[in-house]
Amino acid sequence: MIIKNIGELVGIVPAGVLRKQGAEMAETGVLHDAWLAVEDGKIVGFGKMDDLVGHDGNDRESIDAEGGLVMPAFCDSHTHIVYAGSRDGEFLDKINGLSYEEIAARGGGILNSSDLLHETSEDELFAQSMVRVREMMAKGTGALEIKSGYGLNPEDELKMLRVIRRIKESVPALVRITFLGAHAIGRGYTHEGYVQAVVDMMPKAAELADFVDVFCDEGFFTVEDTDRILTAGAACGLRPKIHANELAVSGGVQVGVKHGALSVDHLERTGDAEIEALRGSETMPTMLPGSSFFLGIPFGRAKEFIGAGLGVALASDYNPGSSPSGDMRFVMALGCIRMRLTPVQALNAVTLNSAYAMGLSDITGSITVGKRADLILTHPGWTLTKIPYLHQTPFLRTVFLGGRALK
Ligand SMILES: [Zn+2]
Repeated sequence: MIIKNIGELVGIVPAGVLRKQGAEMAETGVLHDAWLAVEDGKIVGFGKMDDLVGHDGNDRESIDAEGGLVMPAFCDSHTHIVYAGSRDGEFLDKINGLSYEEIAARGGGILNSSDLLHETSEDELFAQSMVRVREMMAKGTGALEIKSGYGLNPEDELKMLRVIRRIKESVPALVRITFLGAHAIGRGYTHEGYVQAVVDMMPKAAELADFVDVFCDEGFFTVEDTDRILTAGAACGLRPKIHANELAVSGGVQVGVKHGALSVDHLERTGDAEIEALRGSETMPTMLPGSSFFLGIPFGRAKEFIGAGLGVALASDYNPGSSPSGDMRFVMALGCIRMRLTPVQALNAVTLNSAYAMGLSDITGSITVGKRADLILTHPGWTLTKIPYLHQTPFLRTVFLGGRALK
């Protein structure tokens, strides 16, 4: 396949660059009047239309971009899209001013999601979750991470992990699996008893998962719990990606960095100590503006992180309670509108850096020869700046995953 007459080809990154940090966040390779060739699902070449030689054979299917923009498909490194039912009743309760306890009593919150998941068959859970995955791919997401964490007992956590594995094997998007047994204390357990149960679940979870996650925050799991769980994860070969500093300055960032976390996520409440802890680490700070927007809590300090020389990834946090959207274009727009990132910084945050945050930036997340052809082709007339600016105007013409147009 060859895409010709691309008005703007953005997100070009040299081979071997796996993430962007600090001043690099403001850089992306751009070509105008460009072509891009795909073979066996991978990008095999791109360049200016003037220089199109050797890739223009008759054996290639040719697509005329008519001046549209081509960019890497979105990468979403933090989601909870496997869940049962809906929490729209809770949405109404919140609007009507009910307290957290009142909402829980009426069937809201993580524990009630867990009860409902327990009663839902594996096939039904898969079917409900696939609706969301298809929606995300149709909106341009080519790689996503999915967490467990609504099971909260050994049997149901493994059920969730099996459903995520089945999704991974069923879709053209790349899927990474995270074991988040430590999302909340499961019903019927003491705090200590549940932390031990999560540690005990680790070997079986590791057969299905790529990563281990802990909700290290006030009222959930302490730094000491997190340390124990991540140590157990490491013994089973699971690298951490953790929830940190959403509700309080929790120490989550520091314990994550200590364990070589691939990412520390949320970060709405951070100080200079967190920035200092992240400097020089392999850990990608990941912010979730969709949940800040939905909950009305502070946005992450992305500009300060970048100013301190760090990278930033943005992800959707798609979940039924605090971020009921997997629209990464909206995440990018919030990055620009509310966090004051430039469109190029936001692009790097929702593509290459988010791919890095799930260990995939060697194979997707940028326009690079040899990477998967996970691409977004827009309608004519779109520029990178217009994507977050005209943030509700339909812009997608075709999403290509592994070089194939999504139908
Ligand atoms: Zn989350």
